[in-house]
Amino acid sequence: MVEKTPINDHFWMPFTARNGFRKDPRIVAAAEGSEYITDDGRRVFDSISGLWCCGFGHNRAEIAEAVTRQLQTLDYSPSFQLGHPLAFELAERLTRIAPEPFEHAFFTNSGSESADTSLKIARAYWRMRGQPNKTRFIGRIKGYHGVNFAGTSLGGIGPNRKLFGQLAEADHLPQTWRAEDVFTKGQPQGGEELANHLEQLVGLHDASNIAAVIVEPVAGSGGVLVPPSAYLRRLREICTQHDILLIFDEVITGFARTGCGFGAQTFGVMPDIMNLAKTLTNGVIPMGAVLTGKDIFDAFVDDDQADHLIAMPHGYTYSAHPVACAAALAALDVFEEDDMVGRATRLAPVLQESLHSLRDLPHVVDVRNIGMMGALQLAPRDGDLSVRPYEVGVWCWHHGLYVRWGGDTLQFAPPFTATEDQLEQMSQTLREALLTLR
Ligand code: PLP
Repeated sequence: MVEKTPINDHFWMPFTARNGFRKDPRIVAAAEGSEYITDDGRRVFDSISGLWCCGFGHNRAEIAEAVTRQLQTLDYSPSFQLGHPLAFELAERLTRIAPEPFEHAFFTNSGSESADTSLKIARAYWRMRGQPNKTRFIGRIKGYHGVNFAGTSLGGIGPNRKLFGQLAEADHLPQTWRAEDVFTKGQPQGGEELANHLEQLVGLHDASNIAAVIVEPVAGSGGVLVPPSAYLRRLREICTQHDILLIFDEVITGFARTGCGFGAQTFGVMPDIMNLAKTLTNGVIPMGAVLTGKDIFDAFVDDDQADHLIAMPHGYTYSAHPVACAAALAALDVFEEDDMVGRATRLAPVLQESLHSLRDLPHVVDVRNIGMMGALQLAPRDGDLSVRPYEVGVWCWHHGLYVRWGGDTLQFAPPFTATEDQLEQMSQTLREALLTLR
């Protein structure tokens, strides 16, 4: 007989519905490739790469070896006042892989910290450039930038905000979902009118008070909302016209998730700041990064400043942690040598068909996808938006599939190492779930 894992309330679980979990705990004991292995020995296909973070597959030996080696060489050293070789190597490597103009990397430990860091850099940048009133930020409805003060303020998922109130000066663009785009495969057309709302917010607050706009190229946790084709380009134009920094939160879309290396490349629009985390280490060790170009970095650099003065009083105890750097360097090796961009590009049409083949099933009101991410939106039941995705998700968990439920959607971001058979089986399991549940 298999021993079930004891659970308790001492572990205050993040973003987890306690009562459902207590009645029917979902415990992961191990992982291999694209699968989790549960505490009762079942294999479950991981259709969301952990939490959008293990795109290169679980338990990559190359990363495990690099981490083990690093733990035996230098376990920890601060990046305040000291440096270690891997931090410089990783920053150089990462900015080489990233598109132009990114030349500088500030390391954090998570996507939430990347949000805070990028927004602080934006405010400080304008102050350095003699415009200290530029403090306001603009996010987007349905956006997600983590859970720290900045991410909570700029995020646009109502239930994540309502307990906490407004924390930083923020306003929000409308979301990019349009009723006429339902069941679009890939990117819908147009969308300039959605971006033009930024003009109204500039009119309201005045550009002299706005530091930055932060958006995910594709809203992920908000339900995989793919931007229409003209949207990001128009946002970029308006930001440039009004001297507002544009921040892309690429915490999900970075590292081949949308097909190209970064969402900025997939959509052909360059932000001023790019936030990363998650797949940066393939989810193995917590790490994030904020990338900037020379113009922003140079605002903080003054070769004539006295030797003991700090231009940027910001950083974390674990910024550029040596073990995280080792994990990230090994993950970048895998990214390049195992051709993750090529894998994602080849598998994307299979994911697209797996999801869109479900469009006529009961309760499915929209199917969306781009690259290796997608969502099924389900109709509410008795006025409750999130009950159906939850029930389908739990049913699937018991039938060999882990699918993430969030709001009114089921969300997908399978590992790039998944097989076509696994994606087809995923679709089959979802079909059975949707036909079974009311
Ligand atoms: N930004 C985006 C786009 C995310 O999807 C997430 C997490 O899902 C975050 C930020 C926050 O990352 P973390 O949970 O590592 O703080």
